[in-house]
Amino acid sequence: MDKSPRGLGDGEPLAKAQLLAAPLRWPSEKALAERPKFGGRKADEGAEHLGLTTVGALLEHLPRDRREARTVAALVAGEQATVVVEVRSISSRPVRRRGMRPLVEALVFDQTGSLQVTFFNQPWLVKKYPPGTRLVLHGSYEARNRFRVSSHAPTAEEIGAGDDVAHYAAAEGLSSTQILAVVREHLAAARLAPDPLPGRLRARHRLADMPSALLAGHAGQLEPARQRLAFNELLYVQLDLLRRRARRAEELKAPQLAPAQEGDLVGDWIAQQLPFELTGDQERAVSVVLGDIARGHPMQRLLMGEVGSGKTVVALAAMLRAVANGYQAALMAPTETLANQHFATLAELMPGQAVPIALLTGSTPSARRRDLLGKLASGELGIVVGTHALIEDDVLFSRLAVVVVDEQHRFGVRQRTALDAKAVGPAGSVAPHVLHMTATPIPRTLALLGYGDLDVTELRELPKGREPIATHLASGERDRARAYERIREELRAGRQAYVVCPLVEESEALAARAASAEYERLSAEEFADFNVQLIHGQMPSAQKAEAMRGFKAGDVDVLVATTVIEVGVDVPNATVMLIENAERYGLSQLHQLRGRIGRGEHVSVCICFGPKESERLSAFSTWNDGFKLAEVDLQIRGEGELIGTRQSGMAAFRFASMPEDGELLERARLSAREILEADPDLLLAEHVPLREAVERARGSLLAPTIPA
Ligand code: ADP
Ligand code: MG
Repeated sequence: MDKSPRGLGDGEPLAKAQLLAAPLRWPSEKALAERPKFGGRKADEGAEHLGLTTVGALLEHLPRDRREARTVAALVAGEQATVVVEVRSISSRPVRRRGMRPLVEALVFDQTGSLQVTFFNQPWLVKKYPPGTRLVLHGSYEARNRFRVSSHAPTAEEIGAGDDVAHYAAAEGLSSTQILAVVREHLAAARLAPDPLPGRLRARHRLADMPSALLAGHAGQLEPARQRLAFNELLYVQLDLLRRRARRAEELKAPQLAPAQEGDLVGDWIAQQLPFELTGDQERAVSVVLGDIARGHPMQRLLMGEVGSGKTVVALAAMLRAVANGYQAALMAPTETLANQHFATLAELMPGQAVPIALLTGSTPSARRRDLLGKLASGELGIVVGTHALIEDDVLFSRLAVVVVDEQHRFGVRQRTALDAKAVGPAGSVAPHVLHMTATPIPRTLALLGYGDLDVTELRELPKGREPIATHLASGERDRARAYERIREELRAGRQAYVVCPLVEESEALAARAASAEYERLSAEEFADFNVQLIHGQMPSAQKAEAMRGFKAGDVDVLVATTVIEVGVDVPNATVMLIENAERYGLSQLHQLRGRIGRGEHVSVCICFGPKESERLSAFSTWNDGFKLAEVDLQIRGEGELIGTRQSGMAAFRFASMPEDGELLERARLSAREILEADPDLLLAEHVPLREAVERARGSLLAPTIPA
């Protein structure tokens, strides 16, 4: 090995590394595994706390970039920066979403101003950082004094301004200066750092080799060093995910659903029975899905489609192919309203009476249910549509081959996968093909991490002839009067309207009460001349179904609703939506709601009541594109709260940070693919270190979305 300090991948010399006063003795082989000595029990405890138990770990403890440290007043919205601040107050707040730990919110300040910071998933910080604690926070500044933290450490010492010494995250009993001294002592060992990446890959991605990256990092060239270590992390996760997926595909069998010999049900249906032409995206998705299910291994595909992009048709194509091959298919939806609607739509889109189909929900009468279960078990029923009722133990299929999970993010992992166990054949060796569908777009970075073991297909194109929806923000009495007049205009022209009542988080009962009051008021006053109908989650299902039927048939002009209409409801003649207290909803929920209009040939309008200065609402009124909104959402809320984040274990990354490292993630994904194509089990000699690194990283980095 070359004994002089090496250059980085792009050939930049390591000038700074040479300035360090470390004696570059050639270290012994065991050097990396040794335990560094920090001198004293307190310091050793601090080191333990930081995980600095071997020289190797110590060398991966990169300093933070001091040059980026800013005063609060100098922060610029959207930028990554480090601030050194003091805690003024700190408290925790419960999170609405189930299973999530409380948020910790702190008010911090320096001599130039104060910041509001939120820590996700670390409730213990309230105790760890009491008022008066000095903190180094690294993260991004998001305007209006909010700071999104990606890493943090208490300052165990006052940091003098202007000195050029590397600054390390410290701990109680162990200062940055002490760490620096010990790093210097062991720096030479960096040359022995094993490099799991084959040289060929490093060269292609212009990444530094490990020894150079570590030396450069401690010499202050942080970004290339951090990138190199972040790339490792991301690559391990992607390798793990892709191998898991490959193994599942190999080991599990699924029915081979080939095109039928004569009179192809699916082809005929698409060509002759559908009242419209498929969009290009739909066509591609149908052919990918049909390709998947023609293989003998289970499909696990996520169909991510813009609201109104027509996902149902793609699902139906797969279900019909199952039936054509003598198998059964099931479609599971998160709500009864949605299941009812799917059932009606499918019956409508279905080719003649050829396919026996039934609906099974919690409110299916027991006699009917018994009859239905009998027909499922005997194979007489081809397609069943339903809710969670489908996954109950006594629901047995004769030949289940295709499962569709609509709005899959509404289900827990266990529910999503429960239908897998109902496939034909010995348990554990045969699984059905599964199509997961979602209209809540997941930014690609999150999709690659959280759903890395699913194949992803996107539907972005909307059916032809759809008019974009205009969204207006409104507040005050004048706006309100104008909004109702606008709605009446639409109604007089024969269109229909939704009025969405304020979200009441505390209880369904309160939400129902608020909606009922609004319904009373509107039907007596603003819409006295029209047919107004109420729908909320607390109504008996038969009544809900009747309300939806009336609206769908056009008998009802105005539907006053709670968020029960959030997903899936499809009435193309509805062209106006009024949303009350829109600021209470999240961006993706707003987008879902708005997706109920703009489904037909007429121009649609969405009117949102809420504070005009709301960042979220202004983004909502600017963008119609769900993918764009999901990205904005990620920026506004921070990664911790988004779907997929928890499953992806993103918080466990030490060097990578999302979404900033999205591009690095793409490269890691690509590399993982290429490596596995050549060597699926990482058995080649040059891949052995990589395999070991993946195995070490597993568990600490990732919990899979779909159990392997
Ligand atoms: P989503 O993706 O939101 O679930 P749906 O599958 O409910 O969308 O489809 C929305 C509406 O668009 C339905 O009324 C459906 O019949 C209609 N639709 C689907 N595909 C097309 C198409 N290619 N052309 C015209 N209308 C379509
Ligand atoms: Mg849908």
